[in-house]
Amino acid sequence: MTYKTADKQVVPEPMLRHIHCDSFFETSEDRQVTLEVLEIRQPTFTTLTLTEVTDGYEVFAAEYLTGIVAMRLAEGWTIVSAGERHYHLGSPPSDPDGSDAEPVCSRCGSTKVVRDACARWDKANRRWVLADVHPGAFCEACEADGDDLLQPPAIDGASAETCGETAP
Ligand SMILES: [Zn+2]
Repeated sequence: MTYKTADKQVVPEPMLRHIHCDSFFETSEDRQVTLEVLEIRQPTFTTLTLTEVTDGYEVFAAEYLTGIVAMRLAEGWTIVSAGERHYHLGSPPSDPDGSDAEPVCSRCGSTKVVRDACARWDKANRRWVLADVHPGAFCEACEADGDDLLQPPAIDGASAETCGETAP
């Protein structure tokens, strides 16, 4: 979605712009307490900013903010940076816009991961060329392996010519 600015420029609109608000009357102190967190979501990131805090409720507000962050983490978002009053989150791995992120081991977080692959002899160039990349992955750091080890799941770059174990 896009919208036009006053000078007729077309700019992308945030996918989501939402104010999380918690407001209640604190009877023991006879005053209204208001907490506001502004959430702005773009295709590849989300920012959560504490925009209003009633004096004396900073700790409460920080908990309110981390509670919203926790909801996003449960959806697969990851913390890119965090400050006292804001969080910057990266999009979930399943988001196609985040697919250029480097694959890491889902168990230990290392980038020393390798994939199982299959090479085919190229007669013209007299060398082995990559024919297919299999789902299986291995982590050289923690020695874990499995089809779902990589985070985010690696996108197969090579043209997927079928390369089954039984192929001639
Ligand atoms: Zn690992």
